Amino acid sequence: MKKILLCKESDERETRTALIPADIKKLISMGFEVTAVRGTGEKSGITDDEYEAAGARLVSSNEEGYKGNDIVLRIMKPESIEGIESGSLHLSYLDPFNEKALLDKMANAGLAAVSLEMIPRTTLAQKMDVQSSQTSLAGYAAVVNAAARLPKILPMMVTPSGTINPARVFIIGVGVAGLQAIATAKRLGARVDAFDTRPVVEEQVKSLGASFVKIDLGEMGQTDQGYAKELTPEQIAKQQEAQAKVCERSDIVITTAKVFGRKAPRLISKDVISRMKAGAVIVDMAVSTGGNVEGSKLFEEVVTDNGVIIMSGDMLERQVPNDASKMLSGNFTAFLTHFYNKETKELDIRLDDEIMRGCLLTQGGKIIHERFK
Ligand code: NAD
Repeated sequence: MKKILLCKESDERETRTALIPADIKKLISMGFEVTAVRGTGEKSGITDDEYEAAGARLVSSNEEGYKGNDIVLRIMKPESIEGIESGSLHLSYLDPFNEKALLDKMANAGLAAVSLEMIPRTTLAQKMDVQSSQTSLAGYAAVVNAAARLPKILPMMVTPSGTINPARVFIIGVGVAGLQAIATAKRLGARVDAFDTRPVVEEQVKSLGASFVKIDLGEMGQTDQGYAKELTPEQIAKQQEAQAKVCERSDIVITTAKVFGRKAPRLISKDVISRMKAGAVIVDMAVSTGGNVEGSKLFEEVVTDNGVIIMSGDMLERQVPNDASKMLSGNFTAFLTHFYNKETKELDIRLDDEIMRGCLLTQGGKIIHERFK
């Protein structure tokens, strides 16, 4: 297995590409062959000529590229898998908790399907972790978007005409996105509060110069993969109540709270929003998995009766496709390099490797991953 196809994304909103020319050069020098679909890098600022100069063969469509290639790379889950040759390795996000029918289809088509969201969170796999590489950019973009929409500036300013107090930013959920959001808001001069249910986060928040909002919810903790545990309805009610006052005084609230494989917790109610300041901005980064904020809408902005702006915070990494593609490409290249066999000069699907076992969902006509069988 060594013939890679770089697909063109089918969602018009997608701006990123899975491989950049510098990494294609690297892969070709190792012994891989790369085919790219024309136009795949356009929205990331990469021309077909650059792909060609890096050594890629160009084709006009995904379907044309499927013929003769056995490693298929794309970012988002495929709309159609028709034409992909049986036995091929397919790498992309698959949204496996919600896409049982797609997994069945991929299994029936004889594909070895890797789900990027299932790459284990181990030290060795860190450089392949697309979730982290992309959500950290999204955390940055969330603050920049909110700041641009806010009718205030973020830093303190002392001038002869008067003093402007720093804006107050509240970050709920301090994982990869939340940490980057705190760092960005601090760089822009805001006063930042943050909360997360994982107690280990407090130190990280403080080291970035933000205040940690203390809420005692009893038993919380995290899984061995570093993900939050799901709260009980009573704990969520207690959290909502305790953080309401912080929301009311904040100019920007960014919510990133997620529980892996489950619906996101609803953390900000309409009632709390009705008590927030006119012109305050909320960015709901969990909007596609159920939403942390009552009334948030995917890919839409909502302005409430009292003038609070609720922004959709999904896929914000798409706003910085240049860097997002570079990081994604690094993740894909690290994966391909890890499973490359120097002797055969081919990629091996090694199931004795815990990274492959963690993210390979289908193979040999079946769903093989314990969690999705
Ligand atoms: P995520 O996207 O699943 O969740 C985002 C954040 O929301 C998490 O910090 C979670 O604790 C928090 N959250 C959940 N419910 C909440 C609630 N009710 N209120 C407030 N916050 C809530 O998680 P993530 O950002 O992808 O990662 C979480 C952690 O995993 C990271 O901070 C990091 O320590 C770890 N991690 C490890 C590796 C690795 O070792 N390779 C890679 C990436 C992340």
